[in-house]
Amino acid sequence: MSKSVIVVGTGNAALCAAIAALEKGATVLLLEKAGKDLAGGNTKYTAGAMRFAYDGNADLLPLVREQDDPRLPKTDFGSYTKDKFAADLLGFNDGRDLSPEQKVLVENSGDTMRWLASHDVTFEPIYSRQSFEKDGKHVFWGGLTLAAENEGVGLFEMEMAAVQRLGGTVRYDAEVTGLIEDQGRVIGVQVGDESLFADSVILASGGFEANEEMRVQYIGAHWDKAKVRGTPHNTGDGLRIALEVGATEYGFFEGCHATPMDLHMADFGGLDLPPSERKNYRKISYFLGVMLNAEGKRFVDEGANFRNYTYAQFGRAILEQPGQFAWQVFDSKVFDLLYAEYCFHDAHFVEAKTLEELVPLMTGVDAVQATQTLTEFNSAVDMTVPFDPTVLDGKGTRGLTLPKSNWAQRFDTGPYRAFPVTGGITFTYGGLKVDGAGAVLREDGTAIEGLFACGELVGGVFFAGYPGGSGLTSGAVFGRKAGIGAVC
Ligand SMILES: Cc1cc2nc3c(=O)[nH]c(=O)nc-3n(C[C@H](O)[C@H](O)[C@H](O)COP(=O)(O)OP(=O)(O)OC[C@H]3O[C@@H](n4cnc5c(N)ncnc54)[C@H](O)[C@@H]3O)c2cc1C
Repeated sequence: MSKSVIVVGTGNAALCAAIAALEKGATVLLLEKAGKDLAGGNTKYTAGAMRFAYDGNADLLPLVREQDDPRLPKTDFGSYTKDKFAADLLGFNDGRDLSPEQKVLVENSGDTMRWLASHDVTFEPIYSRQSFEKDGKHVFWGGLTLAAENEGVGLFEMEMAAVQRLGGTVRYDAEVTGLIEDQGRVIGVQVGDESLFADSVILASGGFEANEEMRVQYIGAHWDKAKVRGTPHNTGDGLRIALEVGATEYGFFEGCHATPMDLHMADFGGLDLPPSERKNYRKISYFLGVMLNAEGKRFVDEGANFRNYTYAQFGRAILEQPGQFAWQVFDSKVFDLLYAEYCFHDAHFVEAKTLEELVPLMTGVDAVQATQTLTEFNSAVDMTVPFDPTVLDGKGTRGLTLPKSNWAQRFDTGPYRAFPVTGGITFTYGGLKVDGAGAVLREDGTAIEGLFACGELVGGVFFAGYPGGSGLTSGAVFGRKAGIGAVC
């Protein structure tokens, strides 16, 4: 007789778990807290970018649907080895070794992409954000090359279609409120008063980023005001109900992915907006200018690295500033290089012909100190090095206590613009400990029989930051493992 599996959630991790379990012959029911419109969790809000190890064009091309794209023959994807992926993760580990979960992620990333492709999930190169043109070629940088066709919504739809083709069933408006145990084994879930039973339960209900109380409890006091970039439904329910049956907390609970966002965006990501508008509240061109806090001071090295490697920490850094906001300041020399989100019709900014006129327009900022900071910055810019935004150009400041290491240009060509920003939380890093089959572990290392977890709920994958595009890959890798583990 086929095994029965309940999957909690319908995001990327849940759908991968469901596909894997269905492939193994299980009967699968997915329970989703949201209605049909908001099903798919944070997955639907993403750009669909997925980071994975590959050896070169030959590895990538079979994953791309649009094989006739005239740019393809002129594209150099480079290679992104497992060692490079591991090194990128290590770069965010604050001195920690690669965790067992990170090793699993790296080792299985390429294979999992091919597995998704075998279920008709197709991808497209991220030409606009991850490549530049050089000598007539499209050259990719940073190891992040592909996104699901039609971004996060496309990923959700393609994975959901695979689930339905394989015979999975989905119930919306079904909030899982507890687990049912029998002699230490999980045998089902509660949806309010209703009890539903299965051989295995896979929790794929995301992190606790949308739960203000848990953010303050685990991440820190000033996280109450964080904007939530994604779904309002990831309120830590899976974590809570797993802890109730003896699971152990695991991973970096103080950590989360957060990014600079427009200070005046809504409190949650709006799926009601078209994707092209939704993502425009993000403000990540800071590397082309400087960021000033309420005291009129800079507080990060805006040019420390490519923005892929810094934006997640800088969202946090902004929330740690007085008043939980900052202003991003740009000279007109870079207006054309700012991402489209800065010209978006609902982008908030102030503009003035001179810095003297601009500074008082930056509400909440100490104008005297801000002027001094910008003057000192201008004097410190190394004018001997040419500006080149396509590489780490080494055009930095000299002599500032807090340097800007790359892409430092003087503020000397008005008009100038300043954009008010805050930190938007994307997802949390702390979660549950799972074994190699995705089973949830107790503190003593034993598995809770019948209980599996994947996606944002898995701890130990990210610490001080994350190389962009690893969240979805992690969800797919651990989702697939949990799906197989729940059946075998
Ligand atoms: C704006 C934004 C952009 C992003 N861009 C990228 C990107 O390009 N690349 C990348 O790798 N990552 C990106 N991420 C991160 C990525 O979204 C997550 O890593 C990934 O989607 C998590 O997948 P998941 O399946 O674990 O969770 P989710 O996709 O959030 O799914 C969780 C599901 O569980 C449901 N749920 C919650 N509680 C319950 C309950 N009690 N009962 C039933 N269901 C419940 C939720 O409604 C939701 O459907 C982005 C995130 C955001 C917010």
